[in-house]
Amino acid sequence: MNGSDSHDEDGIRADRVADTFRQIFGESPDGVWAAPGRVNLIGEHTDYNDGFALPIALPQTTLIAARRRADGRLRLHSAQGDGRITDLAVAELSPGTVTGWSRYPAGVVWALAQAGHAVGGADLHVDSTVPTGAGLSSSAALECAAALAFDEMYGLRLDGPELARLAQRAENDFAGVPCGIMDQMASICCTTGAALHLDARTPDRPRQVPLDLPRHGLRLLLVDTRVTHDLGDGAYAALRAGCERAARLLGLPALRDLPAAHLPRALRVLPAELVPLVRHVVTENDRVAEAVTRLRQGDVAALGPILTAGHASLRDDYRVSCPEADLAVTAARGAGALGARMTGGGFGGCVVVLTEAAREDQVNREVPAAFAAAGFRPPRMLAVAPAAGARRLSPPPRRGALAER
Ligand code: ADP
Ligand code: MG
Repeated sequence: MNGSDSHDEDGIRADRVADTFRQIFGESPDGVWAAPGRVNLIGEHTDYNDGFALPIALPQTTLIAARRRADGRLRLHSAQGDGRITDLAVAELSPGTVTGWSRYPAGVVWALAQAGHAVGGADLHVDSTVPTGAGLSSSAALECAAALAFDEMYGLRLDGPELARLAQRAENDFAGVPCGIMDQMASICCTTGAALHLDARTPDRPRQVPLDLPRHGLRLLLVDTRVTHDLGDGAYAALRAGCERAARLLGLPALRDLPAAHLPRALRVLPAELVPLVRHVVTENDRVAEAVTRLRQGDVAALGPILTAGHASLRDDYRVSCPEADLAVTAARGAGALGARMTGGGFGGCVVVLTEAAREDQVNREVPAAFAAAGFRPPRMLAVAPAAGARRLSPPPRRGALAER
């Protein structure tokens, strides 16, 4: 996708969302804002170990057309909802009082107000191309588009990391879903043609790492396995507790503080059940560092084997993969892809694939064929590329993206 095409497409979608807003609410919106979903290229289960990640923003975005209201009401409508308008009073928002999808945007308004920002009511219409529940963070896209809309409608002028933190607070404390800061940071701070190098210890200072796929004749594909295995939540808590116990036993603030060179010695003193966990976290942080070094050198293809090694570590050491994700990786590599790995918390969701452009069709054919042969549901194949973070689409911004604030 080239820049001008995506701009035209953004404009067309923004017009359509504004038209629908007028039909629903009877007036024109003050503006239309967009925020993308994200996919993490490498650095999985590292955030709660104070470690590193390397997400990109997706071309798939959530759009919000919004208009300020003076009466303190918050009215919410989504093209992906049940057709009803949720009508809430901003002054009465509190955790647990809102259910369903409305709790994400309502949570953003609540988090802004809790932080002392002068926000009031608004009408919002949401329309998204981010697949929901696929691990691509449609929830963060929704929160971040709402956060930027309120920031601009109410003239708050908060910076990107601050908006990301408030959006995360909405998800954790209002919607009641635990998540790290990566999703919201990626949705807000990513830029076109770059990955975001995030350090969970200093999340406010992410770095852009160039990732120009077309220049290198490369493509990123996503295989949405369309499965979520239910063991997710309890397993996540157990893994996290295991990592924290290992860090305590090693006398470290977090596993991030264990350098790869000290890993063999550390593994000798840890209880057997913690060994694979620590090995994954330390080698995974190392893979993020290696990926960033190679990308900065312009060696984008080197990302392939790093992805594949990351998958093996998640499958064999961390044990959070599933048969569908394993098959997607094997089939993509069999079709000639440079590398692939499951992405997200695990037990389903998406697999990210790096391939030469010449092999793209083959991957798109052979992965679904392998799923059919195994009796799995057909996967959804998506082509992605590092896209822009949250931004206003209309009226057209005078300055650059939020990432440049
Ligand atoms: P993910 O973030 O991986 O897509 P989540 O379960 O965290 O999965 O978030 C999905 C939820 O976010 C949906 O069930 C819905 O409540 C909400 N959501 C996301 N996008 C939209 C949208 N466009 N309209 C309404 N709700 C949405
Ligand atoms: Mg989510």
